[in-house]
Amino acid sequence: MNRYPKRDDLRAMSGYHSPQVSVKVRLNTNESPIEPPAEFVRELAAAVGAIRWNRYPDRAARDLRGAIAAMHHVSPDNVFVANGSNEVLQSVLLAYSGAGRSVATFEPTYQLHSHIARIAGATVVNGQRNADFTLSEDEVQRVLREHQPSVTFLCSPNNPTGMAEDPDIIASTIRSAPGVVVVDEAYAQFSPHTALQYVNEDSRVAVSRTFSKTWSMAAARLGYLIAPTWMIEDLEIVALPYHLDALKQVAGVIALKYLPHMERGVAEVVAERERMLREMRSMPLTVWPSQANFILFRPEALAGNAPGSGSASGAGRTVWQRLLESGVLVRDCSSWDGLANCLRVTVGTSTENDAFIAALRNALSARD
Ligand code: PMP
Repeated sequence: MNRYPKRDDLRAMSGYHSPQVSVKVRLNTNESPIEPPAEFVRELAAAVGAIRWNRYPDRAARDLRGAIAAMHHVSPDNVFVANGSNEVLQSVLLAYSGAGRSVATFEPTYQLHSHIARIAGATVVNGQRNADFTLSEDEVQRVLREHQPSVTFLCSPNNPTGMAEDPDIIASTIRSAPGVVVVDEAYAQFSPHTALQYVNEDSRVAVSRTFSKTWSMAAARLGYLIAPTWMIEDLEIVALPYHLDALKQVAGVIALKYLPHMERGVAEVVAERERMLREMRSMPLTVWPSQANFILFRPEALAGNAPGSGSASGAGRTVWQRLLESGVLVRDCSSWDGLANCLRVTVGTSTENDAFIAALRNALSARD
């Protein structure tokens, strides 16, 4: 085959994909384990018939932006909507990063921040977190001072480590950052605090959210940004015409009517998360605290290995494989920077979580 060479700067890159293996218990992508209410599905089905399918959708997505704005007590002009928060982040990076500009992240964090920034042609500067994965004020200030990033990412709660960022550090980052600060709040409903109060016309702060997690709508691919109006106007420049289809716009509006269902789901997931944490803390694992719908953990030792030999023996990968053989898929983070041997499990239904706990116990005690 006569392949045409891709861009030089993409040569070292591969796509970012979580494996979609066909297994019984899939706990690797942090979706909600709870289905949307039956009324949501009925209303959506009825709405399909009312869509004028021969026409382009409302390009400005007025109804959806209006509904999101009402929920957050902002103007629709402060809302940008796109196909998942990943596309929201891509739009921000297309508008404010690119060649000759730098983008700051604090690792380990959500890998797509760096990935999309590189695709947008920017230079990525990866600051480091403390050993317990909290943000260090000194490190944040160093990165801002030395690299003057045009976009700085915070992620609260942080994926894949699990905790919300320290609100004081969010505040000081916003005060000092020379460019746009994006606070990725994909898991906001689990968090004790938000950065939404920092969004105003005089700030350069944007908060991204998604329908993929707590709103039980990962299949729809819908996310949004709350930001100053000038930023929304800039994002309209990079958005493709009619990028958000009519069905998705309607699905978003209908979903927002079921806020109590969503909130009950969050409470259920939190209760299950705490149960999983209790179980996992009784096993030979390092388990990090979580303010999200997932838990980061690291097997310390496997049967037949001396305690503490986990890292050297690739215990993370071995446990991931053993879980998979038991029909449980979790996220293998063991090759990510700063996460040697670490795995991340999404909180599922109680049945799925039981299956995970049993499989994990077996995986930790099994001998090769
Ligand atoms: N931000 C974070 C921190 C995430 O974990 C995810 C999903 N894994 C996203 C954004 C993207 O979500 P989506 O594109 O489904 O809205």
